[in-house]
Amino acid sequence: MAEQDCIFCSVVTGDVRAEIVFQDDRCIAFRDINPQAPVHVLIIPREHIESLDDAGRGDEPVLGHILRVAARVANDEGLTESGFRTVINTGAGAGQSVLHLHLHVLGGRPMHWPPG
Ligand code: AMP
Repeated sequence: MAEQDCIFCSVVTGDVRAEIVFQDDRCIAFRDINPQAPVHVLIIPREHIESLDDAGRGDEPVLGHILRVAARVANDEGLTESGFRTVINTGAGAGQSVLHLHLHVLGGRPMHWPPG
């Protein structure tokens, strides 16, 4: 997918509005438009990476970074005691609907296992 057609690249540029809860020079965290839990935040790298399967060795720093940002966001959202779940869907068969790598942070309700 071309970056100009990517909805999350448009969030990065500000062309699509999002409720941003954290951002820095490498990533943006914003609330999911269709939340699946009381807290549902997406963390995306500013750079367009289509999926985890497309991430290369050079992307390792940003991948580690978004995991740490997930914990920070979860703490800021008050999930420290109750816990939180992080999810990266990769490929249509796993439920990936937006082809710009994103980490879901979910919490605020009991999480079941295995996930559906
Ligand atoms: P996935 O199915 O793992 O690709 O997750 C994509 C997520 O992006 C879904 O949970 C959508 O609700 C969410 N989403 C799609 N467009 C937007 C948007 N403009 N702002 C916030 N969340 C979005």
